[in-house]
Amino acid sequence: MSAQPLMSLIAPSRYSQGRDAIARIGEELARLGEVPMIVADEMVWGIVGETVTASLEAAGLPVHRVSFEGHATAATIDALADRAKELGADVMAGVGGGSVIDSVKAAGHLAGIRWASVPTIASTDAPCSALSVIYTAEGAMEEYRFFPRNPDLVLVDTQLVANAPVRLLVAGIGDALATWPEARAVARARATTMAGGAATMSAQALARLSWEILHEDALPAIAAVGRNVVTPAVDRVVEANTLLSGLGFESSGLAAAHAIHDGLTAVPQTHHLTHGEKVNVGTTTQLVLESAPTAELDDFIRFTTAVGLPNTLVEAGIDVDDHDSLRTVAEAATAEGETIHNMDVEVTVTTLVDALRFLDDYSARVRKDAGLPAPAPMHQH
Ligand SMILES: [Zn+2]
Repeated sequence: MSAQPLMSLIAPSRYSQGRDAIARIGEELARLGEVPMIVADEMVWGIVGETVTASLEAAGLPVHRVSFEGHATAATIDALADRAKELGADVMAGVGGGSVIDSVKAAGHLAGIRWASVPTIASTDAPCSALSVIYTAEGAMEEYRFFPRNPDLVLVDTQLVANAPVRLLVAGIGDALATWPEARAVARARATTMAGGAATMSAQALARLSWEILHEDALPAIAAVGRNVVTPAVDRVVEANTLLSGLGFESSGLAAAHAIHDGLTAVPQTHHLTHGEKVNVGTTTQLVLESAPTAELDDFIRFTTAVGLPNTLVEAGIDVDDHDSLRTVAEAATAEGETIHNMDVEVTVTTLVDALRFLDDYSARVRKDAGLPAPAPMHQH
Protein backbone atom coordinates (compact mmCIF):
# COMPACT_ATOMS: atom_id res chain seq x y z
CA MET A 1 0.00 0.00 0.00
CA SER A 2 1.46 3.37 -0.98
CA ALA A 3 1.44 6.24 1.49
CA GLN A 4 -1.17 8.94 1.12
CA PRO A 5 0.32 11.82 -0.92
CA LEU A 6 1.45 14.84 1.09
CA MET A 7 0.00 18.26 0.41
CA SER A 8 2.81 20.67 -0.49
CA LEU A 9 3.04 24.40 -1.16
CA ILE A 10 6.28 25.83 -2.53
CA ALA A 11 7.21 29.46 -3.18
CA PRO A 12 10.12 31.84 -3.75
CA SER A 13 11.94 32.98 -0.60
CA ARG A 14 11.14 36.63 -1.29
CA TYR A 15 8.76 38.43 -3.68
CA SER A 16 9.14 42.20 -4.07
CA GLN A 17 7.10 44.35 -6.45
CA GLY A 18 6.73 48.07 -7.02
CA ARG A 19 7.40 51.10 -9.13
CA ASP A 20 11.14 51.57 -9.86
CA ALA A 21 11.97 48.31 -8.04
CA ILE A 22 14.84 47.77 -10.50
CA ALA A 23 16.75 50.58 -8.78
CA ARG A 24 16.81 48.40 -5.62
CA ILE A 25 18.37 45.34 -7.31
CA GLY A 26 21.73 45.95 -5.61
CA GLU A 27 20.40 45.89 -2.05
CA GLU A 28 18.15 42.91 -2.88
CA LEU A 29 20.99 40.84 -4.41
CA ALA A 30 23.39 41.83 -1.60
CA ARG A 31 21.24 39.68 0.73
CA LEU A 32 22.03 36.66 -1.45
CA GLY A 33 25.67 36.91 -2.42
CA GLU A 34 28.80 38.93 -3.05
CA VAL A 35 29.42 38.29 -6.76
CA PRO A 36 26.22 38.60 -8.78
CA MET A 37 26.03 37.68 -12.47
CA ILE A 38 23.33 39.63 -14.31
CA VAL A 39 21.91 37.99 -17.45
CA ALA A 40 20.01 40.27 -19.83
CA ASP A 41 19.63 40.64 -23.58
CA GLU A 42 20.83 43.73 -25.43
CA MET A 43 17.41 45.35 -25.59
CA VAL A 44 16.68 44.94 -21.88
CA TRP A 45 20.18 46.02 -20.92
CA GLY A 46 19.75 49.13 -23.05
CA ILE A 47 16.74 50.03 -20.90
CA VAL A 48 17.93 49.04 -17.41
CA GLY A 49 21.72 48.78 -17.70
CA GLU A 50 22.57 52.16 -16.18
CA THR A 51 20.10 51.80 -13.31
CA VAL A 52 21.24 48.25 -12.51
CA THR A 53 24.92 49.24 -12.65
CA ALA A 54 24.37 52.20 -10.30
CA SER A 55 22.35 50.07 -7.89
CA LEU A 56 24.97 47.28 -7.77
CA GLU A 57 27.77 49.80 -7.23
CA ALA A 58 25.83 51.54 -4.47
CA ALA A 59 25.50 48.16 -2.74
CA GLY A 60 29.24 47.54 -3.09
CA LEU A 61 28.78 44.70 -5.61
CA PRO A 62 30.84 44.08 -8.76
CA VAL A 63 29.02 44.48 -12.10
CA HIS A 64 29.15 41.35 -14.28
CA ARG A 65 26.57 41.37 -17.03
CA VAL A 66 26.27 38.47 -19.49
CA SER A 67 24.30 38.78 -22.73
CA PHE A 68 21.52 36.42 -23.71
CA GLU A 69 19.88 35.53 -26.99
CA GLY A 70 17.13 33.21 -28.16
CA HIS A 71 15.23 30.57 -26.20
CA ALA A 72 15.81 28.64 -22.99
CA THR A 73 17.67 25.78 -24.68
CA ALA A 74 19.92 23.16 -23.08
CA ALA A 75 22.97 24.68 -24.83
CA THR A 76 22.20 28.22 -23.64
CA ILE A 77 21.79 27.00 -20.06
CA ASP A 78 25.08 25.07 -20.09
CA ALA A 79 26.91 28.16 -21.41
CA LEU A 80 25.46 30.40 -18.67
CA ALA A 81 26.44 27.93 -15.94
CA ASP A 82 30.01 27.78 -17.32
CA ARG A 83 30.19 31.58 -17.38
CA ALA A 84 29.06 31.78 -13.73
CA LYS A 85 31.87 29.42 -12.73
CA GLU A 86 34.45 31.47 -14.68
CA LEU A 87 33.30 34.65 -12.92
CA GLY A 88 33.14 33.02 -9.51
CA ALA A 89 29.54 34.22 -9.24
CA ASP A 90 27.54 33.18 -6.16
CA VAL A 91 24.16 34.51 -7.35
CA MET A 92 22.68 34.80 -10.85
CA ALA A 93 19.86 37.17 -11.78
CA GLY A 94 17.84 36.85 -14.98
CA VAL A 95 16.56 40.29 -16.02
CA GLY A 96 13.99 40.29 -18.83
CA GLY A 97 11.32 37.94 -20.18
CA GLY A 98 10.40 34.29 -19.71
CA SER A 99 13.27 32.86 -21.76
CA VAL A 100 16.04 34.56 -19.81
CA ILE A 101 14.34 33.81 -16.49
CA ASP A 102 13.86 30.12 -17.27
CA SER A 103 17.46 29.90 -18.50
CA VAL A 104 18.86 31.52 -15.35
CA LYS A 105 16.87 29.24 -13.05
CA ALA A 106 18.27 26.19 -14.81
CA ALA A 107 21.79 27.63 -15.08
CA GLY A 108 21.84 28.79 -11.44
CA HIS A 109 20.86 25.31 -10.38
CA LEU A 110 23.52 23.70 -12.60
CA ALA A 111 26.19 26.07 -11.27
CA GLY A 112 25.16 25.31 -7.69
CA ILE A 113 24.57 28.98 -6.76
CA ARG A 114 21.54 31.08 -5.76
CA TRP A 115 19.29 32.63 -8.38
CA ALA A 116 16.85 35.50 -8.79
CA SER A 117 14.09 36.30 -11.29
CA VAL A 118 13.82 39.94 -12.31
CA PRO A 119 11.02 40.03 -14.89
CA THR A 120 10.72 43.27 -16.88
CA ILE A 121 7.38 42.16 -18.32
CA ALA A 122 4.40 40.34 -16.76
CA SER A 123 3.91 37.96 -19.67
CA THR A 124 4.08 34.58 -17.89
CA ASP A 125 3.84 33.04 -14.43
CA ALA A 126 7.35 31.57 -14.78
CA PRO A 127 9.34 33.89 -12.45
CA CYS A 128 8.28 32.34 -9.11
CA SER A 129 8.42 28.63 -9.92
CA ALA A 130 11.01 25.91 -9.27
CA LEU A 131 10.79 24.66 -12.83
CA SER A 132 11.88 25.75 -16.30
CA VAL A 133 10.39 24.94 -19.66
CA ILE A 134 13.17 23.95 -22.05
CA TYR A 135 12.73 24.52 -25.79
CA THR A 136 14.53 23.33 -28.90
CA ALA A 137 16.48 25.93 -30.90
CA GLU A 138 13.49 25.96 -33.28
CA GLY A 139 11.10 26.95 -30.48
CA ALA A 140 9.27 23.67 -29.83
CA MET A 141 8.73 22.68 -26.22
CA GLU A 142 11.18 19.98 -25.21
CA GLU A 143 10.85 19.26 -21.47
CA TYR A 144 10.08 20.56 -18.00
CA ARG A 145 13.12 20.73 -15.71
CA PHE A 146 12.38 20.69 -11.98
CA PHE A 147 14.68 22.16 -9.32
CA PRO A 148 14.85 21.38 -5.61
CA ARG A 149 13.93 24.96 -4.68
CA ASN A 150 12.24 28.12 -5.95
CA PRO A 151 14.06 31.38 -6.78
CA ASP A 152 15.69 33.10 -3.82
CA LEU A 153 14.21 36.40 -5.01
CA VAL A 154 11.59 37.63 -7.47
CA LEU A 155 11.85 41.39 -8.08
CA VAL A 156 9.22 43.06 -10.30
CA ASP A 157 9.32 46.71 -11.38
CA THR A 158 5.77 47.71 -12.29
CA GLN A 159 6.91 50.78 -14.23
CA LEU A 160 9.01 48.56 -16.52
CA VAL A 161 5.96 46.31 -16.99
CA ALA A 162 3.84 49.37 -17.85
CA ASN A 163 6.47 50.60 -20.33
CA ALA A 164 6.51 47.28 -22.22
CA PRO A 165 4.18 46.50 -25.15
CA VAL A 166 0.62 45.86 -23.97
CA ARG A 167 0.52 42.56 -25.87
CA LEU A 168 2.95 41.13 -23.30
CA LEU A 169 0.68 42.02 -20.38
CA VAL A 170 -2.22 40.46 -22.29
CA ALA A 171 -0.13 37.30 -22.74
CA GLY A 172 0.47 37.16 -18.99
CA ILE A 173 -3.26 37.51 -18.40
CA GLY A 174 -3.82 34.54 -20.74
CA ASP A 175 -1.29 32.44 -18.84
CA ALA A 176 -2.77 33.44 -15.46
CA LEU A 177 -6.40 32.88 -16.50
CA ALA A 178 -5.55 29.21 -17.03
CA THR A 179 -4.49 28.79 -13.40
CA TRP A 180 -7.88 28.40 -11.76
CA PRO A 181 -9.50 26.11 -14.39
CA GLU A 182 -6.40 23.92 -14.31
CA ALA A 183 -6.25 23.88 -10.49
CA ARG A 184 -9.92 22.95 -10.35
CA ALA A 185 -9.48 20.14 -12.87
CA VAL A 186 -6.47 18.71 -11.00
CA ALA A 187 -8.44 18.74 -7.74
CA ARG A 188 -11.40 16.98 -9.37
CA ALA A 189 -9.14 14.27 -10.73
CA ARG A 190 -7.12 14.05 -7.49
CA ALA A 191 -4.05 14.34 -9.68
CA THR A 192 -0.56 15.46 -8.68
CA THR A 193 0.58 19.10 -8.73
CA MET A 194 3.81 20.43 -10.25
CA ALA A 195 5.16 20.67 -6.68
CA GLY A 196 4.49 16.96 -6.19
CA GLY A 197 1.69 15.53 -4.08
CA ALA A 198 -1.72 17.06 -3.51
CA ALA A 199 -2.80 20.70 -3.52
CA THR A 200 -3.21 22.72 -0.34
CA MET A 201 -6.33 24.83 0.17
CA SER A 202 -3.96 27.79 0.23
CA ALA A 203 -2.67 27.18 -3.30
CA GLN A 204 -6.19 26.65 -4.61
CA ALA A 205 -7.29 29.91 -2.99
CA LEU A 206 -4.41 31.74 -4.67
CA ALA A 207 -5.35 30.23 -8.04
CA ARG A 208 -8.94 31.31 -7.60
CA LEU A 209 -7.94 34.78 -6.43
CA SER A 210 -5.87 35.33 -9.58
CA TRP A 211 -8.97 34.46 -11.67
CA GLU A 212 -11.13 36.93 -9.71
CA ILE A 213 -8.61 39.76 -9.84
CA LEU A 214 -8.13 39.34 -13.58
CA HIS A 215 -11.86 39.42 -14.27
CA GLU A 216 -12.09 42.61 -12.19
CA ASP A 217 -8.92 44.45 -13.22
CA ALA A 218 -7.58 43.13 -16.55
CA LEU A 219 -9.37 45.59 -18.83
CA PRO A 220 -8.45 48.74 -16.84
CA ALA A 221 -4.87 47.47 -16.44
CA ILE A 222 -4.58 46.93 -20.21
CA ALA A 223 -5.82 50.49 -20.80
CA ALA A 224 -3.28 51.85 -18.29
CA VAL A 225 -0.35 49.96 -19.81
CA GLY A 226 -1.43 51.24 -23.23
CA ARG A 227 -0.55 54.67 -21.78
CA ASN A 228 2.56 53.36 -19.94
CA VAL A 229 1.09 54.36 -16.58
CA VAL A 230 0.97 52.37 -13.31
CA THR A 231 -2.48 52.38 -11.72
CA PRO A 232 -3.69 50.21 -8.81
CA ALA A 233 -5.27 47.88 -11.41
CA VAL A 234 -1.80 47.41 -12.96
CA ASP A 235 -0.34 46.57 -9.53
CA ARG A 236 -3.05 43.95 -8.98
CA VAL A 237 -2.78 42.40 -12.45
CA VAL A 238 1.02 42.21 -12.22
CA GLU A 239 0.68 40.41 -8.88
CA ALA A 240 -2.02 38.12 -10.30
CA ASN A 241 0.06 37.28 -13.40
CA THR A 242 3.32 36.76 -11.53
CA LEU A 243 2.82 35.75 -7.89
CA LEU A 244 -0.74 34.40 -7.56
CA SER A 245 -0.69 32.51 -10.83
CA GLY A 246 2.90 31.39 -10.19
CA LEU A 247 2.16 29.88 -6.80
CA GLY A 248 -1.27 28.76 -7.95
CA PHE A 249 -0.17 26.77 -10.98
CA GLU A 250 2.85 25.23 -9.33
CA SER A 251 1.24 24.07 -6.11
CA SER A 252 -2.23 23.28 -7.43
CA GLY A 253 -1.29 21.77 -10.77
CA LEU A 254 -1.58 22.03 -14.55
CA ALA A 255 -4.14 20.21 -16.69
CA ALA A 256 -5.34 20.37 -20.31
CA ALA A 257 -4.76 24.08 -20.99
CA HIS A 258 -0.98 23.90 -20.72
CA ALA A 259 -0.78 20.52 -22.46
CA ILE A 260 -2.68 21.99 -25.42
CA HIS A 261 -0.25 24.92 -25.36
CA ASP A 262 2.59 22.42 -25.60
CA GLY A 263 0.79 20.69 -28.48
CA LEU A 264 0.38 24.00 -30.32
CA THR A 265 4.15 24.59 -30.15
CA ALA A 266 4.61 21.44 -32.25
CA VAL A 267 3.39 23.17 -35.45
CA PRO A 268 5.20 26.18 -36.93
CA GLN A 269 2.02 28.17 -37.68
CA THR A 270 1.69 29.07 -33.98
CA HIS A 271 5.24 30.22 -33.30
CA HIS A 272 4.33 33.89 -33.72
CA LEU A 273 1.99 33.63 -30.72
CA THR A 274 3.13 34.24 -27.14
CA HIS A 275 2.97 31.54 -24.47
CA GLY A 276 -0.12 33.08 -22.88
CA GLU A 277 -1.92 33.40 -26.21
CA LYS A 278 -1.44 29.70 -26.93
CA VAL A 279 -2.41 28.84 -23.35
CA ASN A 280 -5.70 30.71 -23.81
CA VAL A 281 -6.63 28.53 -26.78
CA GLY A 282 -5.83 25.66 -24.43
CA THR A 283 -7.99 26.96 -21.59
CA THR A 284 -10.97 27.48 -23.89
CA THR A 285 -10.52 23.95 -25.24
CA GLN A 286 -10.23 22.58 -21.71
CA LEU A 287 -13.60 24.11 -20.81
CA VAL A 288 -15.10 22.26 -23.79
CA LEU A 289 -13.41 18.96 -22.88
CA GLU A 290 -14.58 19.08 -19.27
CA SER A 291 -18.17 20.03 -20.21
CA ALA A 292 -18.05 23.33 -18.36
CA PRO A 293 -21.46 25.02 -18.14
CA THR A 294 -22.31 26.80 -21.41
CA ALA A 295 -22.62 30.11 -19.56
CA GLU A 296 -19.07 29.72 -18.24
CA LEU A 297 -17.66 28.85 -21.67
CA ASP A 298 -19.50 31.77 -23.29
CA ASP A 299 -18.32 34.18 -20.57
CA PHE A 300 -14.76 33.01 -21.04
CA ILE A 301 -14.94 33.48 -24.81
CA ARG A 302 -16.42 36.98 -24.45
CA PHE A 303 -14.00 38.06 -21.73
CA THR A 304 -10.84 36.78 -23.39
CA THR A 305 -11.90 38.21 -26.75
CA ALA A 306 -12.34 41.62 -25.06
CA VAL A 307 -8.91 41.24 -23.44
CA GLY A 308 -7.39 40.52 -26.87
CA LEU A 309 -6.57 36.83 -26.41
CA PRO A 310 -7.17 34.13 -29.05
CA ASN A 311 -9.68 31.38 -28.32
CA THR A 312 -9.92 29.75 -31.76
CA LEU A 313 -7.72 27.84 -34.20
CA VAL A 314 -7.97 30.50 -36.89
CA GLU A 315 -6.46 33.07 -34.51
CA ALA A 316 -3.65 30.63 -33.71
CA GLY A 317 -2.88 30.37 -37.44
CA ILE A 318 -4.24 26.85 -37.93
CA ASP A 319 -6.88 26.08 -40.56
CA VAL A 320 -9.81 24.17 -39.04
CA ASP A 321 -9.57 21.67 -41.94
CA ASP A 322 -5.80 21.18 -41.67
CA HIS A 323 -6.14 17.65 -40.27
CA ASP A 324 -2.41 16.88 -40.38
CA SER A 325 -1.49 19.89 -38.23
CA LEU A 326 -4.35 19.23 -35.82
CA ARG A 327 -3.24 15.65 -35.42
CA THR A 328 0.33 16.77 -34.71
CA VAL A 329 -0.96 19.22 -32.08
CA ALA A 330 -3.20 16.62 -30.45
CA GLU A 331 -0.54 13.92 -30.44
CA ALA A 332 1.94 16.24 -28.73
CA ALA A 333 -0.69 17.46 -26.24
CA THR A 334 -1.67 13.93 -25.26
CA ALA A 335 1.86 12.48 -25.16
CA GLU A 336 2.75 10.38 -22.15
CA GLY A 337 3.56 12.54 -19.14
CA GLU A 338 1.60 15.55 -20.43
CA THR A 339 -0.56 17.37 -17.89
CA ILE A 340 -3.69 16.70 -19.98
CA HIS A 341 -3.79 13.36 -18.14
CA ASN A 342 -4.52 15.28 -14.93
CA MET A 343 -8.15 15.64 -16.07
CA ASP A 344 -10.97 13.49 -14.69
CA VAL A 345 -12.04 12.81 -18.29
CA GLU A 346 -9.85 10.81 -20.65
CA VAL A 347 -8.65 12.98 -23.53
CA THR A 348 -7.57 11.20 -26.72
CA VAL A 349 -6.19 12.53 -30.00
CA THR A 350 -9.66 12.23 -31.53
CA THR A 351 -11.57 13.96 -28.72
CA LEU A 352 -9.00 16.75 -28.59
CA VAL A 353 -9.06 17.36 -32.37
CA ASP A 354 -12.85 17.54 -32.23
CA ALA A 355 -12.83 19.99 -29.30
CA LEU A 356 -10.30 22.21 -31.11
CA ARG A 357 -12.30 22.13 -34.38
CA PHE A 358 -15.48 22.99 -32.48
CA LEU A 359 -14.07 26.31 -31.25
CA ASP A 360 -13.93 28.37 -34.46
CA ASP A 361 -17.62 28.36 -35.36
CA TYR A 362 -18.81 28.39 -31.76
CA SER A 363 -16.62 31.31 -30.70
CA ALA A 364 -17.69 33.21 -33.84
CA ARG A 365 -21.34 32.77 -32.87
CA VAL A 366 -20.84 33.82 -29.23
CA ARG A 367 -18.93 36.88 -30.38
CA LYS A 368 -21.54 37.80 -32.97
CA ASP A 369 -24.28 37.67 -30.31
CA ALA A 370 -22.13 39.90 -28.06
CA GLY A 371 -21.31 42.40 -30.83
CA LEU A 372 -17.62 41.40 -30.75
CA PRO A 373 -15.49 41.06 -33.91
CA ALA A 374 -15.30 37.65 -35.61
CA PRO A 375 -12.15 35.55 -35.09
CA ALA A 376 -9.42 36.26 -37.65
CA PRO A 377 -5.70 35.38 -37.89
CA MET A 378 -3.75 37.35 -35.23
CA HIS A 379 -0.44 39.19 -35.50
CA GLN A 380 0.15 38.18 -39.12
CA HIS A 381 2.82 40.23 -40.85
ZN1 LIG B 1 2.14 29.03 -18.45
